[in-house]
Amino acid sequence: MNPQPLIGVLAVQGNFREHAAVLRRLGADAVEVRKPEELDALDGLVIPGGESTAITRLIRAYGLEAAIRRFQQPLLGTCAGMILLDRQHLGLMDIDVERNAYGRQVASFEADLELSGEEKPLRGVFIRAPRVTALGPEVEVLAELDGEPVLLREGRFLVASFHPELTDDTRVHERFLELVRQWAYVRT
Ligand code: GLN
Repeated sequence: MNPQPLIGVLAVQGNFREHAAVLRRLGADAVEVRKPEELDALDGLVIPGGESTAITRLIRAYGLEAAIRRFQQPLLGTCAGMILLDRQHLGLMDIDVERNAYGRQVASFEADLELSGEEKPLRGVFIRAPRVTALGPEVEVLAELDGEPVLLREGRFLVASFHPELTDDTRVHERFLELVRQWAYVRT
């Protein structure tokens, strides 16, 4: 892998520009992905938040669904991106996710999250956020909100039910880039 990892951000709908900006700030090379062949050179891929129904429809239309299933590098999914990785959608992670699960009254909110291994809380921005309703034994919980998992890792997959691309705290993306580095190291 290059010293500067090449990270794709799925750019069919949603917050892809914000993710690319954070990744660039952290020194990664970030490119927008709209075609299956664009996945080939990547060291990692981000599936952003947005509208999971729209993203699902568009990746099917662009032939990206099969390409993402074949993709073998680390993947970060946030909000709608987390929904896409679950058992009911791409089936890449061993989790069940319920959409828009915080109800209409609290459709959007912010909360301080306790991040595993760190003193400083992480500010989570939740926007019509999904909720993890079941998780397999290989899934590690990295942050919780009121006892429910909101940041999870399973092997090369990292998912958040909130929007780390909308705050100045870059620690979720840093963890993802660390995963990308480890993954490349293990494979060489
Ligand atoms: N509610 C959206 C969905 O179901 C996800 C919200 C988001 O990504 N901010 O796709």
